[in-house]
Amino acid sequence: MRFDVVTLFPDFFTSALASGLLGKALAKTIASVHLVNPRDFATDKHRRADDEPYGGGAGMVMKPEPIFAAVESVPVLPRREVIYLTPQGEPMRQKLFRELVRDFEQLVLLCGHYEGVDERVMNLVTREVSLGDFVLTGGEIPALALIDGVVRLLPGTLGNAESLICESFESDLLDYPHYTRPPVFRGWEVPPVLLSGHHGQIARWRREQQLLRTRQRRPDLLPEAERGSSGFGE
Ligand code: SAM
Repeated sequence: MRFDVVTLFPDFFTSALASGLLGKALAKTIASVHLVNPRDFATDKHRRADDEPYGGGAGMVMKPEPIFAAVESVPVLPRREVIYLTPQGEPMRQKLFRELVRDFEQLVLLCGHYEGVDERVMNLVTREVSLGDFVLTGGEIPALALIDGVVRLLPGTLGNAESLICESFESDLLDYPHYTRPPVFRGWEVPPVLLSGHHGQIARWRREQQLLRTRQRRPDLLPEAERGSSGFGE
């Protein structure tokens, strides 16, 4: 997967893209991230990428010409999506990440700032995606979240592909609780079933925990019929 990130703040990405599993995946060339700064394409002598809004009002607006030039400067792969990160877009969900992995080989991510981008930039954009119902100062954190979530699903990023299957949202259920050593910490014990060595019982307990948690915390994820019961003979 190739990512091209159009951002006024490329330095923002440096440490995140070099860290943890994401950094390892990029080092292994499972994906590549290319940063392009629209300011480098501004043609006026002050290299301005923003200007005052027509009609007046607060804040600045990102100008269309540098953004078009930045997007047009990157290679075009056959299966590509140009995504504007915006609080007005479709919510970022695991299902979206799976679709992007399945359908595309290049994702161009456009990070807005100030009041956002000139509306004519939407002629470049094929999809709008939101990190959630709140307003951030820029699109860099949402773009990083999307890169992280998509790269995580690419073959070779995770050591154990099974962990993908059990994670929250992969089966429309939240994940079960996890424990590691020691067996007792400050008086809190690990559930005995996890120490029992009975794989069948452990699998059943985990499934029960998934259903219980999902019902308590996110009943909206469950099919209507399962919302009222735990689904395991309660
Ligand atoms: N005026 C815009 C509005 O009300 O929809 C908000 C602009 S916001 C201050 C500046 C930029 O941050 C946006 O252009 C967008 O790229 C990014 N941004 C802010 N919140 C976001 C969110 N929840 N999801 C995705 N991008 C976001």
